[in-house]
Formats: sequence, structure tokens, C-alpha cells
Amino acid sequence: MDDCIFCKILRGEIPSKKVYEDETVYAFYDINPAAPVHVLVIPKEHISSADQITAENSSAVAAVFEAIPKIAKQLGIQNNYRIINNCGEKVGQSVFHLHFHILSGSEVMGERLI
Ligand code: AMP
Ligand code: ZN
Repeated sequence: MDDCIFCKILRGEIPSKKVYEDETVYAFYDINPAAPVHVLVIPKEHISSADQITAENSSAVAAVFEAIPKIAKQLGIQNNYRIINNCGEKVGQSVFHLHFHILSGSEVMGERLI
């Protein structure tokens, strides 16, 4: 997608601090961290939100979830993190390229959302 900032990151047009990459998945540090560890994990395929996951593109989503434990291990936060997805503008989605926030550290330990 031409004007998608995460697609621009994938094309190297916007810099990012890479954490992990494979054929299908890319992970990088959030530019505005909400916790001591705040990483975004995205499929390389442009999917605009969780609401757009289908049988045709769900293998890319599966690859994201296969990458997450590897990323957690690499960051030393295994078994100690939250995975968050905002789906839709009304709940705060600001970048319309599917991404999962990986959050860890004291700020996310104390409080349960649900
Ligand atoms: P969301 O609000 O769930 O759509 O999350 C979008 C996230 O992308 C926010 O946490 C932003 O801080 C982050 N973000 C926006 N632009 C960049 C960028 N260029 N590099 C890294 N993270 C970014
Ligand atoms: Zn995109």
C-alpha cells in the first residue's frame, strides 16, 4: 500500500529499529513506547485490521503468532508479556496495517484489562 506507514517501513522508506524478521513477519520497536518493552509485530502482507482477516490471508497472521514466542525469548520476556490489538478507529487504531503490540515491564504488570 503506497501511503501505509508500516508498508513504508517494510520498504525501508521510513526507518525502524528491527527486532525480528522472517519471510512473512517483521517486528520493530514502537516509536512511542507505552511500556519498558513495546514492540510491534506485523505481517509483511498489508492487512488493514484484524477485522480484515480471512481464510486467504490468515496464514500470515498465524506466522505472526508463531514469531511472537521467538521474539519474546529474544527480548528475555518469555511468559511475561501482553499482546494487544486495536481493531478500528473507535478503539484507538491509528495505523491501518494489522499489528500486534507486545508489551512487557512494570507498567503492564499490575492491571488487568478484562
Ligand atoms: P495503534 O494505535 O494500535 O494503531 O498502534 C499504532 C502504533 O504505531 C502506536 O503505538 C505508534 O506509536 C506506533 N507508530 C507509529 N508510527 C511509527 C513508526 N514510524 N515507527 C514505530 N512505531 C510507530
Ligand atoms: Zn501496510
